[in-house]
Amino acid sequence: MEASTTPGGSIETSPCPRCRGLCKAVPARTLRCLLRSRPAREVRESEAYFFCDAVECPAVYHGGGATFFRQDLRVAVFQKDPDGGVPACYCLGFTRRQVLEEAAGALRGQIYHAISGRIRAGGCDCEAHNPQGHHCLAAVMELMHRHDPDPRKAGRVPEGKGRGGAA
Ligand SMILES: [Zn+2]
Repeated sequence: MEASTTPGGSIETSPCPRCRGLCKAVPARTLRCLLRSRPAREVRESEAYFFCDAVECPAVYHGGGATFFRQDLRVAVFQKDPDGGVPACYCLGFTRRQVLEEAAGALRGQIYHAISGRIRAGGCDCEAHNPQGHHCLAAVMELMHRHDPDPRKAGRVPEGKGRGGAA
């Protein structure tokens, strides 16, 4: 699998050196902010870096000849850690468990409105907080819809669309 490029020539995706899944480009700043101090020293501003969102793969980032793993990060990675206490929204601190409670109706609409309001207001710095390098709304919405008990809404996010769904 070859890396794909934009019309402008910058690399958008690259296959994971571990699982061969397609990884999306992520800013070098995200790695510098979220990697522990020792691995962060390997990050070069001039290199392109990519985020692997495959849950079963231990590699999180690769680029510049280096691969960084879950234990190299200061934070748990939502896409790779099924624990309920892992943040789904890293800026506002909503956990997977809270998002699932919202999907079950306990917090109907609150989390979605809090996140989208914060994004509209420009108050997020997801690039520095969220391991996937951009805001969490797509990942949060997918999590909600996948667990939505309302059968009329079920199937809006087809099974297996999980990879890269956080576009
Ligand atoms: Zn991978």
